[in-house]
Amino acid sequence: MANQSRRNFLKTSALIGAGLTGVSSKPAKAAPNNILDENRMGVLVDTTVCIGCRKCEWACKTAHNLSAQSIESYNDRSVFKNMRRPDDKTLTVVNEYAAKGDDQFPVDVKVQCMHCDKPACVSACIVGAFSKEKNGSVIWNGDRCIGCRYCMVACPFQVPAFEYGKAIQPEVRKCDFCFDRTKDGKLPACVEICPMEVLTYGRREELIDLAHQKISLYPDRYVNNVYGEHEVGGTSWLYLAGRDFHELQFPKLGTNPAPGVSEAIQHGIFAYFVPPIALYALFGGVMWLNKNRKQDEHKEANHE
Ligand code: SF4
Ligand code: SF4
Ligand code: SF4
Repeated sequence: MANQSRRNFLKTSALIGAGLTGVSSKPAKAAPNNILDENRMGVLVDTTVCIGCRKCEWACKTAHNLSAQSIESYNDRSVFKNMRRPDDKTLTVVNEYAAKGDDQFPVDVKVQCMHCDKPACVSACIVGAFSKEKNGSVIWNGDRCIGCRYCMVACPFQVPAFEYGKAIQPEVRKCDFCFDRTKDGKLPACVEICPMEVLTYGRREELIDLAHQKISLYPDRYVNNVYGEHEVGGTSWLYLAGRDFHELQFPKLGTNPAPGVSEAIQHGIFAYFVPPIALYALFGGVMWLNKNRKQDEHKEANHE
């Protein structure tokens, strides 16, 4: 009986497969729109001058029509008691790390999507809902998203957030590099408001040069490392700091891009426009087969 069921499943799988490959003669590959334009933009964050005023948080919320309290309320520093992560209601947060010695100050670090050059979210998304744009922004397209949340699992910085509290059409939210502003030549809202010029917006290549110039000029002020220059293949947001980045909870990442196995499997399948429902049917079938195989083995073992 089990063998009969297996044969039926394999036949059904073959039919599904045959039907799928016949769905479209035109491969609709969900490959990343991974244009690495030499003029792509970035932001250099100099954490040594940030005062933790959190005006960037307020400006980000306001620019994205997210509920924000009055700008004065952002002076409340009790928020720094806890480490925070960006979420679906706050696309960027500032965390504060206590001073280490008498001659040191606390370090304030703004956190948001890093806009990777080889974004794992783009690679993991099986329907191409994420794209790396010419100006460096990594953005999400709600019309394509099927809510699988692979992007959240894939991101090495744990950035994309899902609107779990929203019953109808929940979205994946993250910093979009103010794409609606920057595509028209405006500054990102957080960069525009920062009173300390912590955030420098410019061509990524020039920002890297600037960062190294600052390190050379002020070797006592900065550690000799520009975070994001090489991590996971490079990111559009780059950081300078006066302390080891790991003390400031920057993840220790290699230079290879994070996209890997998931990209090979998912884009390989989607090259032939296999719709998600069919994929789930196939994966479900494989799981069902495995379960039956284990049951058969168990029965055979008991029999012997
Ligand atoms: S607005 Fe500028 S100084 Fe204020 S917290 Fe943000 S990055 Fe730091
Ligand atoms: S930080 Fe995460 S969400 Fe942002 S571009 Fe990189 S992989 Fe995508
Ligand atoms: S670039 Fe725009 S979306 Fe990203 S943190 Fe700054 S204000 Fe928010």
